[in-house]
Amino acid sequence: MAKKAKRKQGLLVVVSGPSGVGKSTVVRRLLKADKNVLLSISATTRPPRPGEAHGEHYFFITQHEFDKRVKNNEFLEWAKVHNYYYGTPLSSLKEQLAKGKTIVCEVDVQGAAAIKNFVEERRLRAAAVFIFLIPPSVDILAFRLKKRKTEDEEVVNYRLRAAIAELQVMEKYDYIVVNDKVESAADKISAIINVEKERTLLN
Ligand code: 5GP
Repeated sequence: MAKKAKRKQGLLVVVSGPSGVGKSTVVRRLLKADKNVLLSISATTRPPRPGEAHGEHYFFITQHEFDKRVKNNEFLEWAKVHNYYYGTPLSSLKEQLAKGKTIVCEVDVQGAAAIKNFVEERRLRAAAVFIFLIPPSVDILAFRLKKRKTEDEEVVNYRLRAAIAELQVMEKYDYIVVNDKVESAADKISAIINVEKERTLLN
């Protein structure tokens, strides 16, 4: 009888893409549909937007606290994105991955590149898959950024220029998913996760 593969290793799913592409909406939809998928909650110095809760969307912390955590190597990666700092907490992530869980990190392109290095240097005992979410068109991205209405026009234009630059890096990712509809983008990511688990003999 064939020996059963008994590799208990987690799967890290890195979802990235331009600001305003709808990453967090798609990720939230994915988490709702698949209870086995966990979310890595980032820390940020950005103030909460209406409806955002501490510990649910982000850990909202001060610049002083953020700097302290950077100094103590508490982040897997961190980056300055649009004037605020964002970081992925390392210890909770390592813990969940060691238990063989699937965990999603929603980060900007700098974050995804840093995580890729971290994984390639084998500093994390996990398989990782890198997914780039793109809008169906730049017009739609501009519309979504404006619709958010939480930022003024100058910020929207700045974010749009950054988003177009971010689109240039997509060939470095394992998968490119078009966010045409939230449900179908979440379904596509779910299918990718299932395939990756098979490919890497995870359960
Ligand atoms: P927002 O302020 O709109 O929630 O996020 C701004 C950008 O920061 C988004 O592109 C989001 O994916 C990214 N982001 C959120 N958390 C992290 C993180 O921990 N690390 C990095 N590098 N980017 C993050």
